[in-house]
Amino acid sequence: KKNNSDWKNSQFTVAVRIRPMTTAEIEMGSTITAQSIDDNIVVLLDPMEDPDDILRANRSREKHYAFDRSFGEFASQDEVYVQTTKCLIQSVIQGYNATVFAYGATGAGKTYTMLGTDYEPGIMARALNDLFDAMDARREDSVYKVTMSYLEIYNEMIRDLLNPSSGFLDLREDASGNVQVAGISEVSTVSTEEVMSLLMEGNKERTQEPTAANKTSSRSHAVLQVTVQERNRVRSTSQKVRIGKLFMIDLAGSERASQTKNRGKRMIEGAHINRSLLALGNCINALVEGGKYVNYRDSKLTRILKDALGGNCKTVMIANISPASMLFEESRNTLMYADRAKNI
Ligand code: ADP
Ligand code: MG
Repeated sequence: KKNNSDWKNSQFTVAVRIRPMTTAEIEMGSTITAQSIDDNIVVLLDPMEDPDDILRANRSREKHYAFDRSFGEFASQDEVYVQTTKCLIQSVIQGYNATVFAYGATGAGKTYTMLGTDYEPGIMARALNDLFDAMDARREDSVYKVTMSYLEIYNEMIRDLLNPSSGFLDLREDASGNVQVAGISEVSTVSTEEVMSLLMEGNKERTQEPTAANKTSSRSHAVLQVTVQERNRVRSTSQKVRIGKLFMIDLAGSERASQTKNRGKRMIEGAHINRSLLALGNCINALVEGGKYVNYRDSKLTRILKDALGGNCKTVMIANISPASMLFEESRNTLMYADRAKNI
């Protein structure tokens, strides 16, 4: 049923977003290391802090990366939404699945991009707003039912962010191979304001713990699943209900466990996070290569996304980076990850 050939060309979009420099970065003497120079190109300049590093001095300090879209510090939330995600809305209300995820190190702007603030809502609220509008426009022909759930994968354990007291939830696979989170709450929503406040509340429930590298390092993946059921308003015996799913994901920080100098508990978490991100990366690489076999089984994240990656599903990756020279290595890692996803 799934056809992965040519998935890369038509179904997979890779965008990079560089956030503005923070006051703290400026105060610490950071210079600009990453810049968006047009709609597609990001330039990364090696700050080369050690002038005696002959090996690096002899290399070109500047590297250009090309993506489907490149957003600089002045890109608005609306611009980022319209140019990456808006086009998915029509397919979701027609019964197709789609996934949008934000990738990047802690502090790079993932949560700002996906969730945003009350004044500058991110992709999640904008997409839901457009879904509501699109369904409204087709009200004469179709009847819709929309539900959403919001969960966290932390340490390979699943928690319901809309009902945190329900404890850890299991994944179940039914006879036809559909993966479901057992016992997750599904909320029917009517307005964007309502959605935004649910998401804000849910986000406060995310597991955030201090690490050596950052004050609060988000080691959890936050997954918003929106399910749209559609049927014709005129009932007939032969008609089917069409179901489209849209996943919007604020991934855990991609910084390596080794950089956070952690021991014990944190190291285990790091290993799990790497496993989920690695599994996602492996799936995407297999899809971009046009592979017939894609292994979704290696992590909770990829199992949940099984029906929404590959085949007819559209996928958008937004890689977030800081422009600051002090985070050069992190930004380079993220650009390389994004580059690998599009290049193969
Ligand atoms: P992450 O979720 O990747 O850890 P955040 O989204 O929390 O990072 O961003 C870190 C900080 O930078 C936050 O204070 C956030 O508000 C700010 N920030 C991130 N991206 C932008 C942006 N495009 N414009 C303005 N501020 C931003
Ligand atoms: Mg975050």
